[in-house]
Amino acid sequence: MVEITRHPDDYPWEPYFSHGHERVTETSCCGAYEWVSSGGEYVILRRTPGGRGYQETGRGRYVDARLVWHELMLAHRAKHGTSRTGGRRQE
Ligand SMILES: [Zn+2]
Repeated sequence: MVEITRHPDDYPWEPYFSHGHERVTETSCCGAYEWVSSGGEYVILRRTPGGRGYQETGRGRYVDARLVWHELMLAHRAKHGTSRTGGRRQE
C-alpha cells in the first residue's frame, strides 16, 4: 500500500506552453492528467482549473516524473472512492 502524501493541488503546478515537439503518450482515468515526453524529459499536464490551457508539474527524469504521476493517479482514484456511494458507473 502506498500512502497518499500530497493533495494534487499541493504540487507546484506552473503554466504550460507547448513547444510543438512534445508527445502525449498516456492519459489518465477521466483524462484528468496527461503524461508527456519532451526531448528526454517528462512532464505531467492537467487542464488549468476553471481556465484555459494547461499546467505542468513534475518535469524531469522519467523516474522522478513517474513518481509524481503515480501519486496523482492514487489521489485521483481516491476521489472516485469517496464520490456518491462509491459504486462504479457503468458506461
Ligand atoms: Zn477518473
